[in-house]
Amino acid sequence: MNIRRNTSLLNFNTFHLDMKADAVAVFQSVEELKTLLAEYKNSPILPLGEGSNILFTRDYGGLVLLSGMNRARALTETREDVLIEADAGLKMDSLIAQTVDMGLGGLENLSYIPGTVGAAAVQNVGAYGAEAKDVIHSVKALDRQTLDVVDIPAADCCYAYRYSRFKDEWKDRFIITSVVFRLRIGAVPDVSYKGLTEELSRLGVVSPSLSDVRRAVISLRQQKLPEVAQYGSAGSFFKNPIVSAETFAKIQSSYSDVPFYAMDGGYKIPAAWLIDRSGCKGLAVGGARVWDRQPLVIVNTGNATAEDIMTLAATVQHRVKQQFDIDLTPEVQYV
Ligand SMILES: Cc1cc2nc3c(=O)[nH]c(=O)nc-3n(C[C@H](O)[C@H](O)[C@H](O)COP(=O)(O)OP(=O)(O)OC[C@H]3O[C@@H](n4cnc5c(N)ncnc54)[C@H](O)[C@@H]3O)c2cc1C
Repeated sequence: MNIRRNTSLLNFNTFHLDMKADAVAVFQSVEELKTLLAEYKNSPILPLGEGSNILFTRDYGGLVLLSGMNRARALTETREDVLIEADAGLKMDSLIAQTVDMGLGGLENLSYIPGTVGAAAVQNVGAYGAEAKDVIHSVKALDRQTLDVVDIPAADCCYAYRYSRFKDEWKDRFIITSVVFRLRIGAVPDVSYKGLTEELSRLGVVSPSLSDVRRAVISLRQQKLPEVAQYGSAGSFFKNPIVSAETFAKIQSSYSDVPFYAMDGGYKIPAAWLIDRSGCKGLAVGGARVWDRQPLVIVNTGNATAEDIMTLAATVQHRVKQQFDIDLTPEVQYV
């Protein structure tokens, strides 16, 4: 087990902010995790993956816990599907590369999303019409109160758009150790998401395989999103708001081109469109800037402070509120 004290978090968050933590520890087994939890039982504890959905707003006065466990294994197989258990510390995209190579369908639309398997089950990551919850069978997690590893069926995690119980009522209770996915053998990929269909046709693909879909998704993401090695970011800064039918009708009467997805309980409007129409594209505060090619993303152009990023985010929220009377909620977690 490796513990570093009073250490920089610069390499542990994709905004590239140079905050410090009292301690950063990497555990290689559940036993090591239990030892760390016993040792730090009176400290704040933050389980962290790649820090790609986190904005460190100050130094962290506690223990940052990273999982060094990064294997995946097949559990059971039927004629239709396979249960694959992946350790929480495995990079989600490495898992997807492996499962696509094995001809197992269900994760391909989530290709190239940064972050770890454990966090994907916290966040219910989603892209191109798919969400992690569609294929999560169950989650294994260490209960910090009892130090037992429990098996939590997906149905108990209350998954919804970028939401699970691990984000609020279970936040300080569980540390995810592995996730079990149910993946399909010989699956026909879901390419119904408009942008994905268009990209596949641009690439000249007629009946796409899982690897074709993965290639198209990666190509789309590389066109639209900043590479974190070049510009620090946490991907989409805000969630897409879901508004009532009444609010939607009001907006549509002034903006007939408003894009939307009708869903149970209202209409989801792309936050990127709202931000763009509120005149925020290219807006900057210090070293933080709204990304030109995808205004839902705030980037660190090199020397941004957490203050710059927070001020810029608040300015975007204010402008969208003024223009559309909609409150944008951050998807990024402030720590
Ligand atoms: C360029 C870019 C593009 C992105 N695109 C997308 C996208 O298309 N769709 C999408 O959904 N997201 C996207 N994201 C956001 C991000 O990649 C996801 O939210 C991802 O799941 C975060 O993974 P992580 O390992 O970095 O988690 P972190 O940011 O380290 O942690 C996220 C949360 O999970 C908790 N956590 C982490 N590991 C554990 C664990 N083992 N047990 C309990 N809690 C844990 C943390 O405490 C924190 O609350 C993008 C980010 C970037 C930088």
